[in-house]
Amino acid sequence: MEKVKYIELRNKIMNYANIITFHRVNDYEKNPLTTSTTMFEKMMYEIGRRYQPVSLETLVDEIKNGRKLRPKNVAITFDDGYRDNFLNAIPILREYHLPATFFITSGYINSSKIFPWDEGSLVEHPMMSWDQVRELCRLGFEIGAHTINHVDLRKVPVKLAREEIGGSKAQIEREISRAVKAFSVPFGDTSSISRDIIGVVREAGFECCFSAHGGKVTKDSDLFELHRVPVYPNLIEMKMELDNFMTYFDGEMAIHPFRYRDPINRY
Ligand SMILES: [Zn+2]
Repeated sequence: MEKVKYIELRNKIMNYANIITFHRVNDYEKNPLTTSTTMFEKMMYEIGRRYQPVSLETLVDEIKNGRKLRPKNVAITFDDGYRDNFLNAIPILREYHLPATFFITSGYINSSKIFPWDEGSLVEHPMMSWDQVRELCRLGFEIGAHTINHVDLRKVPVKLAREEIGGSKAQIEREISRAVKAFSVPFGDTSSISRDIIGVVREAGFECCFSAHGGKVTKDSDLFELHRVPVYPNLIEMKMELDNFMTYFDGEMAIHPFRYRDPINRY
């Protein structure tokens, strides 16, 4: 079969969505958490041109209502609340009219706190201020919660997990005067999520919960088990993931286009 036809056909059949997880967008450091502004712009251009950009809220709504997802849906998310999201990503997102959701670590917003993994770094990693978070809301972007202190929820007592999850929702809602519906699990791999944690997220009043692993979502995805895909260092790998040719699995890129897993069974 002609290659292009095959891809089109497969996309029609699959009806999956990709939710990409970004962390930082800047040009002064090079590491897996950081996407350069040039690369970010290239990716946004491609997403706007070749894919169906969709807001996370719309996507969640479609899954909630059991609607078949349109092919090539791509949602853009950011974790942690770094200031460079506001400074560098927002202008590009606005230029290409792309929706995005920002999962912020509420206790780090408006503070000079440093995440443990950024300690000792040669460059600074300032966080957004509440004014900047409010400005994101005003511009139509969604704000989600990512705990207060970016704790590994499975490594703390349930009582503390509850405070971290519910507390971040309350704090953000107080600051932005808007309901916070989405939660993303810090670290977000299988070792930081459990049925109990998902139960706490549900009890806290969230409508959906996102991991940072697992691949695509489909209309049959559980709203509290929504998977995401990582951002890749280059456009080719990113598109291979979005087009379902390859995926990042257990630390390496693997050709395994139809790798749908049910992670709940693996916890
Ligand atoms: Zn995080």
